[in-house]
Amino acid sequence: MKYENFSSKKLQICDFFCNFAPKMDNLYRQLYNWYAQNHRVLPWRETDDPYAIWLSEIILQQTRVAQGMDYYMRFLNRWPTVEALAAADEAEVLREWQGLGYYSRARNLHKAAKQITTFPRTFDELRALPGVGEYTAGAIASFAYNLPYPAMDGNVYRVVARLLDIDEAFDTSAGKKLFHKKIETLLDRDNPRLFNSAIMEFGALYCTPVLGDACASCPLQNMCMGYAHGTAEVLPVRKPRPKVRDRWFTYTIYTDGVHTLIQRRENPKDIWYHLYEFPCEESNELTNEGVNELMVSLTHVLSHQKLHARFIVRRIQKMPDIAGTIVIRWEDLNDYALSRLTLRALDTLRLIPQN
Ligand code: SF4
Repeated sequence: MKYENFSSKKLQICDFFCNFAPKMDNLYRQLYNWYAQNHRVLPWRETDDPYAIWLSEIILQQTRVAQGMDYYMRFLNRWPTVEALAAADEAEVLREWQGLGYYSRARNLHKAAKQITTFPRTFDELRALPGVGEYTAGAIASFAYNLPYPAMDGNVYRVVARLLDIDEAFDTSAGKKLFHKKIETLLDRDNPRLFNSAIMEFGALYCTPVLGDACASCPLQNMCMGYAHGTAEVLPVRKPRPKVRDRWFTYTIYTDGVHTLIQRRENPKDIWYHLYEFPCEESNELTNEGVNELMVSLTHVLSHQKLHARFIVRRIQKMPDIAGTIVIRWEDLNDYALSRLTLRALDTLRLIPQN
């Protein structure tokens, strides 16, 4: 059976749902078959511990599985329960998170752990936790409790956009609402855990952003409207990206061979809140005027900002008294959570800590 029932591209949900019951069974059968044969064994998919699932979902936002795995294992080993995480210092949590980026995730994780007395069991209770949005609440509700909520990550948006040929931008509030309605019609209410796992994995491994010749042998091909209409390759649609903002930072790395100076970023609305860095001045450009010390220049790209940074090394006898900074021993630098940019500079200037 092909697409005869889909006479209009702009398919109404009711039309779709009313005519689709047999196709739904087929969709589930094909999807679950594919999943059984192809899914990766991921520790957070082998457990129904809501704490472990929540941890994995927060870590994996904007993070690849290969990178997130290491962090997940380290967090779980160090803080095996939500109570243990709640008892940690925020600085320790940020230090363990170092290198993952998007540090508000770690702060919210820790804040939520402190709020939790009994782990939430309903979607609404989960959604009320700091840092937990629709997606994460749906993921925990379905993976931990098998509750019938969709878990729409980027992979699922892509698969749904292609299966139903939706050309509305999925990352606007109207688009999210539309996709949410559509996935509600697709969700396998008898087995939401399996459905969410399978469709996410299918998007991650098979129906990927660049399709190549995947469609030719796709198990869902005969029910994919994007394939039928020749639009799959250009879906999903995103809203235009915001303009990237340029910023210029000059860091000074003071060293007397044993000590250095660092400061904590204190603006909750700016990047890297509560992370440590060398004393920094922000300006409208970088000039080389007056700079003849050892230095390294780096460009660092964040989601909406491009940072032009310069790290100047000043070798001195006595640490200067600079407001907001603390003097630490080089050997203790690892105890502080540092931004990836600072880590890159330290890596480039790798002899400095041994001076
Ligand atoms: S036919 Fe192509 S676009 Fe459609 S679900 Fe399969 S891989 Fe994705």
